[in-house]
Amino acid sequence: MPARTASYSRPRAATIEELLQTATRPLFSFEFFPPRDETSARQLWQAVRELESLGPDFVSVTYGASGSTRERTITATETIAQHTTLRSVAHLTCASQSRDQLRRVIGAYAAAGVRHVLAIRGDMPGGPTEPWVRHPDGLANATELVALVRELGDFCVGVGAFPDPHPQSSDAALDARILVDKARAGASFAITQLFFDAHSYFALVDRVRALGCDLPIIPGIMPITNVRQVTRFAELSGAPLPAAVTRRIQAVADDDDAVRRVGIELGTELSEALLAGGAPGLHYYTQNRSRATREIYANLHR
Ligand code: FAD
Repeated sequence: MPARTASYSRPRAATIEELLQTATRPLFSFEFFPPRDETSARQLWQAVRELESLGPDFVSVTYGASGSTRERTITATETIAQHTTLRSVAHLTCASQSRDQLRRVIGAYAAAGVRHVLAIRGDMPGGPTEPWVRHPDGLANATELVALVRELGDFCVGVGAFPDPHPQSSDAALDARILVDKARAGASFAITQLFFDAHSYFALVDRVRALGCDLPIIPGIMPITNVRQVTRFAELSGAPLPAAVTRRIQAVADDDDAVRRVGIELGTELSEALLAGGAPGLHYYTQNRSRATREIYANLHR
């Protein structure tokens, strides 16, 4: 682990914004999704417990596209906030919801003791490539959601960012301007979509800094654990797989254990490159499993 990762004791009440301002080491954090059923609930809570022991600075829970998964996000975030030592960030999307519905969810988060919201636009039911249509009584984009969350309470608000152009945008300069708009609307930090090339992350940071904005941008990392998963997520997110990554994974594609091992190596190398270049933290997309993230974490602390 680089020298600037000296440990420090974390004041429980500090917000992520305050942590980012005062930290003498990069933050570590993990993303989970709400469980679908009893089996996936057991898997989630096992992963939460195993990763809790690493002392992450925060964990986040994604917000589903339908009413029932949204309820499960509120319940899971509430459980983390009330029954673990973890600082929890609740994702919230504005897709297919009226302002009143959004106000109710934000109120439920506040009642559950959640102080951090990741304000995200969300996608249409057909996924990220289906053209966006705002709800007739709803919001146009994540920037408006940031403003609404800030208006309704004392929340520390994060937003999404895109090292590779957003699937509907293909315009890196526009994505950077949108991110700056979100900061001006009251966002205190950003977490990126998954990506596989550290240069894409640093280029995004440069574009945003060139616009005069110092919003901390935390890179989001998806540990690769199998060939199908990485191909699917790369397609959904629009993140191109660099030739070097494809070559190393394809070279062992017939051997599941070797794919996993190479995936951990790639995740470790990406994390090291990001820290060496000054990333303010690392956020891991855990897929509700702790092993890959724990292995990368251990490699970074060798
Ligand atoms: P926005 O910032 O609103 O931008 C989306 C697109 O809208 C832009 O690329 C652009 O094309 C257009 N746009 C926005 N503002 C403007 C403007 N001012 N002028 C012109 N065009 C504009 N999805 C979920 O369903 N649940 C989750 O929990 C979830 N969590 C996520 C977490 C992270 C860290 C990230 C990066 C994404 C997450 N997503 C989640 C996926 C997200 O919903 C999609 O990527 C979505 O398409 C974009 O969301 P956004 O908040 O970036 O939207």
